[in-house]
Amino acid sequence: MSDDLRIDRVETVLLDIPLRRPHRFARASMDAQPVLYVFVRTAGGLTGVGEGVVPGGPWWGGESVETMQLVVERFIAPILLGRRVDDIHAIVRDVTDVVAANLYAKAAVEVALHDAWARGLGVPVHTLLGGLARTSIPVTWALGTEPAPVVIEEALGKLDAGLHRSFKLKMGAQEPADDVARICAVAEKLAGVAGVRVDINARWDRLTALTHLPKLAQAGVEMIEQPVHGSEIDALAEINAALPVPVMADEALRTPSDAIRIADRRAADIFAVKTTKCGGLRASMEIAAIGAAAGIPSHGATSIESPVGTAASLQFACAAPGVTWGSELFGPLLMAEEMLVEPLRYADGELHLPDGPGLGIELDPDKLRAFRRD
Ligand code: MN
Repeated sequence: MSDDLRIDRVETVLLDIPLRRPHRFARASMDAQPVLYVFVRTAGGLTGVGEGVVPGGPWWGGESVETMQLVVERFIAPILLGRRVDDIHAIVRDVTDVVAANLYAKAAVEVALHDAWARGLGVPVHTLLGGLARTSIPVTWALGTEPAPVVIEEALGKLDAGLHRSFKLKMGAQEPADDVARICAVAEKLAGVAGVRVDINARWDRLTALTHLPKLAQAGVEMIEQPVHGSEIDALAEINAALPVPVMADEALRTPSDAIRIADRRAADIFAVKTTKCGGLRASMEIAAIGAAAGIPSHGATSIESPVGTAASLQFACAAPGVTWGSELFGPLLMAEEMLVEPLRYADGELHLPDGPGLGIELDPDKLRAFRRD
């Protein structure tokens, strides 16, 4: 039996999955989401899959699907071959000895190991994480950087359809004063009917943040994500202390050590935890646990994962008791193609955990072929 769990093949596939509409960040825009699927196959015939994905390119954290493919094939796969899929702590340690940083690439592999191991046991991935704290999670919808009337119309449509109860807007693409005016118009229109949150994606400096963010809070914005550079923990703490609404740490929070430092300085009131940027399910569980111990709720955040990565993030978000601030696991809703045999279930503003072993999903082989990059 033990031989059945030994890894005898690691495969990577690059795909470009078309989007329903372009998704815009401050300095990047995408019409299709590039993703890397990592397949870990065992001698006993088990296959686990994990997804390497970043929001549209290397602007966020330096990695791209292309760098991930190279790191996985050249440096990580040789460590995996011959090892058991349930040897996760030792594998992660050995990978870290050979590859620094590259947490997105490591996450794809770590999730694939969990998927294969859970499938071998016939249990869902969340069982390997300690079981369920919840079976579904609210999903915020991300609105783009378009003018206020366009964004308001999209938000009201989603609200009417009962798809989402809160919205997150990306900032940082325009001059701060124009951007703030645009967001205030949206927040005032949606006041009382939906939550409005903003993500500045580390675009502003301390003074810009201290000057403009109070206006957003006054207009009814309920949460402000990562206004300053990820390394500027002191500035983040100062901004958090100055605002009457919670600040969420995203770019500043990638490792459990970051979580301890942010909690210690009270630099954020909410942790944005992504199974991708944090290097996998185990590190995400640790970060959410640190947050919970410090009285800081976690949010199930996204790197715009396809259904594979979204299923992994959902397994984490449903398992971790500290993920009490909802999620933004909307990636599959942004995509024009359903990559699974059975789609993930979004209903009543929430994403519902699928049944079944492993990640609880099955990839559609036709879709895998159709969107594979040649
Ligand atoms: Mn963010």
